[in-house]
Amino acid sequence: MRTDVAQTVRLEDYRPTAYAIGTVDLDIRLAPKATRVNAKIAFSPREGTAPGTALELAGDELKLVGLTLNGAPLSPEDYEVGEDTLTIKTPPEGPFVLEIVTEIDPDANSKLMGLYRSSGTYCTQCEAEGFRRITYFYDRPDVLAVYTTRIEARKSDAPILLANGNPVEAGDIEGTDRHYAVWHDPFPKPSYLFAMVAGDLACVSDTYRTLLSGREVELRIYVEHGNETRCDYAMDALKRSMRWDEEVFGREYDLDIFMIVAVSDFNMGAMENKGLNVFNDKYVLANPETATDQDYAGIEGVIAHEYFHNWTGDRITCRDWFQLCLKEGLTVFRDQEFSSDMRSRAVKRIADVRLLQSHQFPEDGGPLAHPVRPTLYRQINNFYTATVYEKGAEIVRMLKTLLGVEGFRAGMDLYFDRHDGEAATIEDFIKCFEDANEADLSQFARWYAQAGTPALKVAEHWDEASKSLRIDIEQSCQPTPGQTTKLPFTIPVRFGLIGPNGADMEWTSASGAELRDDVIILTDPRHSITFEGLSSRPVTSLLRGFSAPVRLADDKDRDALVFLARHDSDPFNRWHAVQSLAMQLLKRGARTPGALATDEIQELASLIGEAAGDGNFEPALRAQLLQLPAESDIARELGTDVDPDAIAAARKAVQVAIAGHCAESFAILYEALADTGPYSPDAEAAGRRALRLTVLEYLAWIDGEASVRTLGHYRTANNMSDRLTALRLLVHRADAGAQEALDDFEARFAKDALVMDKWLTVQATAPFPETLARIRTLTAHPTFSYANPNRIRALIGAFAAGNQTQFNRPDGAGFDFVADTVLSLDKRNPQVAARLLSAFRSWRALEPGRRALAEAALRRVAEAGGLSSDVQDIATRSLQ
Ligand code: ZN
Repeated sequence: MRTDVAQTVRLEDYRPTAYAIGTVDLDIRLAPKATRVNAKIAFSPREGTAPGTALELAGDELKLVGLTLNGAPLSPEDYEVGEDTLTIKTPPEGPFVLEIVTEIDPDANSKLMGLYRSSGTYCTQCEAEGFRRITYFYDRPDVLAVYTTRIEARKSDAPILLANGNPVEAGDIEGTDRHYAVWHDPFPKPSYLFAMVAGDLACVSDTYRTLLSGREVELRIYVEHGNETRCDYAMDALKRSMRWDEEVFGREYDLDIFMIVAVSDFNMGAMENKGLNVFNDKYVLANPETATDQDYAGIEGVIAHEYFHNWTGDRITCRDWFQLCLKEGLTVFRDQEFSSDMRSRAVKRIADVRLLQSHQFPEDGGPLAHPVRPTLYRQINNFYTATVYEKGAEIVRMLKTLLGVEGFRAGMDLYFDRHDGEAATIEDFIKCFEDANEADLSQFARWYAQAGTPALKVAEHWDEASKSLRIDIEQSCQPTPGQTTKLPFTIPVRFGLIGPNGADMEWTSASGAELRDDVIILTDPRHSITFEGLSSRPVTSLLRGFSAPVRLADDKDRDALVFLARHDSDPFNRWHAVQSLAMQLLKRGARTPGALATDEIQELASLIGEAAGDGNFEPALRAQLLQLPAESDIARELGTDVDPDAIAAARKAVQVAIAGHCAESFAILYEALADTGPYSPDAEAAGRRALRLTVLEYLAWIDGEASVRTLGHYRTANNMSDRLTALRLLVHRADAGAQEALDDFEARFAKDALVMDKWLTVQATAPFPETLARIRTLTAHPTFSYANPNRIRALIGAFAAGNQTQFNRPDGAGFDFVADTVLSLDKRNPQVAARLLSAFRSWRALEPGRRALAEAALRRVAEAGGLSSDVQDIATRSLQ
């Protein structure tokens, strides 16, 4: 196997192409091992292109079988085929049409990029650089063209033929067993948004009438036969998304038809191809028996995300891949807002911040740190990261906080207006908010350029004589790869000053920083903000709603945190106060076993017990308040010299103590929350289940070895949330009922690979030394396959990212297993292999023994021959 030469691509080197493309006419004749692609591409020189300038197109694993220019075959001296290129040495002056015939092998395409087959269905994945695996092309996002796609296939193999846009024509090819369909997409788009699908699929259809102009849009979800009944929730989420984008952003759908296809082999979550979204079936299929409440929420969020891309991504796309956050950060923000409106805003915010802190913060604090808009890459596939997506969304949220609801909307309206049909940049985006608000956002824009999580150090000084409070806030940001010093960020800090009765206090004057309503705007390295005219010393509540993606180090003592946990009117900060208290304990417990004083644990237990029964809060929020920080969160907060076994032991000790303290009230709550009616996945019911299951988890710790309650919960479950949590609790505590439940689960769902993924994950994340051997055995289980990304993520990805003690085994066997898997998987699917390898991103924070073993495993990968550029890039950067 050839080693990809990882060439560094730099933002500063951006140049437009020499030629523009007007139209692309594709004629695709499908066959499993030899698909013919005839691409007729109309080029014209851009202004300033010298006559005869060579045309250089990208290609990857293509067989060139024909090439004509303006209808005449090209002779071999007129062009050159390189490893990844096709060059037309001296094109004629003016516009010309190039007709390229390539042959590709969908069955052999194990990378799942370009045209491949998933359970017999032909499908394409072109983002970021997959179109070049279909034909030679300017495979970059700033080349927009109008596509017409003709697909031809055997009728029996592929009765359904789909492509972007609107259907134009279809028919049989007389005298053969083949048929064809022609699709036309009137909206110019970059090649990464091209898609076609062909196969024997079932279709669920519906319609949506737009609010803005009353147009009727045909909606279709295509799935494998037998899955038709599992699409209702996805279809409903789609209709709600379409309506919401009209109501909240004024964006109407623009084609006559919108299609979603669910496939089982997919590298990512889903893909926003114009009018033809292709989804990992995990984010489409659901019914109560097979999907957890979390799965339902995931489906709702991803359906919305891909739909929202129609405007933020498709109508306005990215000039180059450095601008990826232009579509992803913005679209994540939009889907988060949608879910907040559909469910509980507070609960959604907590969940999003949890995700940010558990995935993005470690990235920002380790060797893979990069700016939200990077300035160089060797493999763009490795930049579909939590930083680009989640931190990118936080930047948009901060814009809204800074500009206010109306200012933000005005900026968005201008953006849609000004850049519709274009490939834009972050500068273009920011400029719209500046122009619509007469604001200067140049300092704010540093959020896109500087990597690393800023830290806020806060100290408070109360002056009793003058009844004034001074808050000193100092911002800093640690160095990240390639960026040793950082300039100060613009940081919006939403806040409140809480009086003794729990209500926010008024002040007469404030100085030292700009204040807009309840937001302090930090711009300098240091601010001293003084509030005058307070009636008594308040407790400060800073960073309400997590108004900026920063680490807040305030010097709050336990009493102040307990006060906030009981009284803050901001639900997010209530949650945060409980987390902070728990984190203080857990960190200390992890450093010094036995260091925890019972009264401290009691205090936390009392708070948690109160929160559990607090009828003023919705159950979903109470469930969040009850949850202790995860082992990986504790590791992140410790930062250095991490011993995952000590962390797990401390966390367990605190959990058991809380369970003991709250045993009685939890048992009552558990019974009280039992659902008697029929199952519904709505947010209310899901919240009650979440609370009940959180309580069950605590109770399981004190219920003794053979937990009748947990096993009973498993046996009587009428939905997947209940069933899966009970299964996990049984297995992760090595309960006597564990095997019975595992066997039962397998017997019920053996034929449903998507559900069996949960069964794999439960076993892969069990915190025992036997787990690694179990995983090796499971790789031979009929449900497992190295060809399917979902299976790999469920078994091995879950182990690497979700099993702190066993991935980080002190003997290094966890590291070696993952490294070996990465090396063998790399030959088949480099993208999935590279992502798996990024589980090593925090290796430097480990204690010396584990750190050395992790480094050795990483080096073994980095130094292996024949690596893909994907894995090479992650390995090299992880070691830097
Ligand atoms: Zn996206």
